[in-house]
Amino acid sequence: MNILINLAYIVASILFIYGLKMLSKPTTAVRGNQISALGMLIAIVATLLYSGMDYRWILAGLVVGSAIGAVAAIRVPMTSMPEFVALFNGTGGLASLLVGWSEYNTFLNTADGGLGIVQVIAIFLAVLIGGVTFTGSMIAYAKLAERIDGKPTLFTGQQLVNALIVVAVLVSGVVYVMNPGAELSQILFYVTVFLSLVLGVLVTIPIGGADMPVVISLLNSYSGLAACAAGFVISNTVLIVAGSLVGASGIILTNIMCKAMNRSLAHVLFSGFGSATTGGAGEGQTGEVKPISAEDAYYVLEAASSVVFVPGYGMAVAQAQHVVRELGDLLEANGTEVKYAVHPVAGRMPGHMNVLLAEANVPYEQLVEMDDINPIISTVDVCVVIGANDVVNPGAREDESSAIYGMPVINVDLARSCFVLKRSMRAGFAGIENPLFFKENTRMLFGDAKDSIAALVEQFKSG
Ligand code: NDP
Repeated sequence: MNILINLAYIVASILFIYGLKMLSKPTTAVRGNQISALGMLIAIVATLLYSGMDYRWILAGLVVGSAIGAVAAIRVPMTSMPEFVALFNGTGGLASLLVGWSEYNTFLNTADGGLGIVQVIAIFLAVLIGGVTFTGSMIAYAKLAERIDGKPTLFTGQQLVNALIVVAVLVSGVVYVMNPGAELSQILFYVTVFLSLVLGVLVTIPIGGADMPVVISLLNSYSGLAACAAGFVISNTVLIVAGSLVGASGIILTNIMCKAMNRSLAHVLFSGFGSATTGGAGEGQTGEVKPISAEDAYYVLEAASSVVFVPGYGMAVAQAQHVVRELGDLLEANGTEVKYAVHPVAGRMPGHMNVLLAEANVPYEQLVEMDDINPIISTVDVCVVIGANDVVNPGAREDESSAIYGMPVINVDLARSCFVLKRSMRAGFAGIENPLFFKENTRMLFGDAKDSIAALVEQFKSG
């Protein structure tokens, strides 16, 4: 039977890798997801075939987990997906922590001395990384759900406190690894559980504002590493493979996010960046805000030969993607060249805008990346900013005192004209002012993005 299980694990691992590769292209992403899910089904069924399984507990877990998952899937609105993903990430970390903890307990209770050095270290890592992932993800969840302030939380001596905790964890780790059964090691093990949970909070609260995408992808990577460690703890090869794939892809995503923010990982983690209190949009700005009606915006769009849509978090809130696509089609039918420019950190989770635009069946060839649109943006007649704010903030380019100075943005202000669709003058996620709203060539189309675009569509249809 074990040979069969191992064969199934190899098949599952191949499907994971193949599926992951397919996720790198929008055209194959859905199939990639299905292939990976099939791999996971094979892995789960194979694991259930192990002898000595207590199916009562598995059934109980299945019923409780499925019930929570089903209720959440039905009740959680699409707009809350990013924080929901953060929550799931955290539960992955918690699961690894509990696996490590329970294996340690089994070892202590049976006292057969049967733990090899690899398992001893893996238990420690599963608990440490799992704990940091759990509480770190809970803070990320609270920030994304706006249950706590998204701005960095800093206090005097924060770095020192963090450093002392890391040293305490490392010392505990060394003592525990040398003799895991000793009484002191047992105490230090529980100290490590506690400190890992505290560390998760402390390393996440100083990061906020525009740097959150980096933290989210990093926590994603941690959850994979914790699962990988849990795989070593229970000697389950497919968990080791799946965990390392998540860990590695999370690191790659973190690197992409760092590049998108033009920041090094160390800078994000240790600089307490964005802590300077900056005013809301409009403070200290000179220039006039020029509102525009849907009717007037229609006349400009109708005459434009090129239009670039720039979606942001507000498009997700308004769920405007379908009506945006409809407007795009009408513009194309009118002879206008239409593109959709996507910033890598637009929205609240990596790939957020791509998912929404794909849902609305926006043709892939109309999607352009920031690096491709910026060099030609001065030739664009109208940029239509749909609920984006931080990712189109020219202060990142022009204002050295801006908290996002240096972060590449889509330079919509350099287009011939720019319409900004949002409900008010409020700031975006980073909580900083946006000089775009006061530029000579900017017009503000105030209102819910879906309503505003629908009004434009109406104008086109009746016009
Ligand atoms: P922002 O959060 O900067 O701005 C969104 C804007 O949408 C707001 O200013 C809001 O203005 C407007 N808005 C909200 N609801 C509506 C609505 N119904 N209709 C019209 N407008 C609406 O979004 P961006 O996408 O520009 O930037 C993303 C930010 O989130 C960046 O700072 C990024 O770092 C951060 N982030 C990104 C993550 C990722 O992985 N992508 C993860 C975590 C954070 P108003 O209230 O006036 O309508």
